[in-house]
Amino acid sequence: MALCDNMELVIPREKERLYKAQAAERAGLPDETFSGGVDARSVDSHDTVGAVALDRHGNIAAGTSTGGTLNKAPGRVGDSSLIGCGCYADNLTAAVSLTGWGEPIMKLVLGKWAVDRVAAGASPDEAAHAAIEYLFERLGGHGGIILLDRDGRVGLAHNTPRMAWGLRTVAGVEIGVIRNWGSVFCSGRTG
Ligand code: ASP
Repeated sequence: MALCDNMELVIPREKERLYKAQAAERAGLPDETFSGGVDARSVDSHDTVGAVALDRHGNIAAGTSTGGTLNKAPGRVGDSSLIGCGCYADNLTAAVSLTGWGEPIMKLVLGKWAVDRVAAGASPDEAAHAAIEYLFERLGGHGGIILLDRDGRVGLAHNTPRMAWGLRTVAGVEIGVIRNWGSVFCSGRTG
């Protein structure tokens, strides 16, 4: 794969967001990043992409890619790259990928927590919802989760305003955006 220059990834919109966050920090204003309620980052949307997959041989896999959080400390290692936190897979149980406020996800080792619920008998749907509830109840965290077990059952949950998702099976492709606000569930298209 041809690598691009890192500077090609720096765009004016994101520079502006960063400078605004840094100015707010200098002014001693509260950090609104994932701080609960309708936070700026949730509304502006996130760039984390997660995938879980199961092949015909029963191999299960998870991947998570992110730009991290706005105004992060230099050298911060987020949940996405920590196995068991934002990403985890085990052929015997399930695969999981998470997005959201990484610090609480890391403290709770939430990916492994959710997969352990599946190992204990919960469906991926139950485990996904339990994980997001646990994230909020324990640490006031916000995020989203996708889960896939070794039988191909899926679970999706989030407590951010929305989370786009897509599902591909032998039967076809389904794409949707679940919105928490107003409980609208759109499937078959994004937006
Ligand atoms: N979880 C990521 C992080 O904290 C951010 C995100 O999902 O948008 O680095």
